[in-house]
Amino acid sequence: MMATTHALMGMGLLSATGLFAPEYLPVAVAGGAVGGIIPDLDLLGNHRRTLHFPVLYSAGALALVAIAATVPTILTVGLAAVLLSAALHSAMDALGGGLEVKPWKGTSDRAVYSHYHDRWLAPRRWIRYDGAPEDVALAGVLAGVLVLTFAGPIQTAALAFLAISVVYGLCRKPLVVAGEYLVERLPQHVLDRIPFQFTEDLS
Ligand SMILES: [Zn+2]
Repeated sequence: MMATTHALMGMGLLSATGLFAPEYLPVAVAGGAVGGIIPDLDLLGNHRRTLHFPVLYSAGALALVAIAATVPTILTVGLAAVLLSAALHSAMDALGGGLEVKPWKGTSDRAVYSHYHDRWLAPRRWIRYDGAPEDVALAGVLAGVLVLTFAGPIQTAALAFLAISVVYGLCRKPLVVAGEYLVERLPQHVLDRIPFQFTEDLS
């Protein structure tokens, strides 16, 4: 799934805060967006491992939600929202595609690493790959709910994430074709500097 889909999912989940503590709605939804994106900052490292913790984030999120419910402040609610959304992101990556450069081929058995289980979780491919039509459609539904429910910054952020999702969805496969073209032509000493996961099944 795209980072933007995860951000919209986190925003949607955390927008429920408005039902029982509307004064914390902005920080909760902002935390949901940030927590939805943070795990994918490991893209350039060991992707879906370094910053993805499906079980450990969930345990931490439960503890932080309990603290935020007991002592609600901007800080406790914000931190709980970030961790809850990061936990949802990490767990939901197991429902997406594998880690290969062309995930639509369905050849990888690695979706997301569970540090708790000390092994890779297999991709379920409910959403075949990040940027797939069904991924963009899910982002559209989530953004639509947020846009129809809220005004102001939440609405603007939802529309921005949707716009990025649509553009990414349109570019997803052409980007890999462009990558193939480059890998065939770049000198070896340049290729050696590109992280392996970006070139492993292109050459
Ligand atoms: Zn991820």
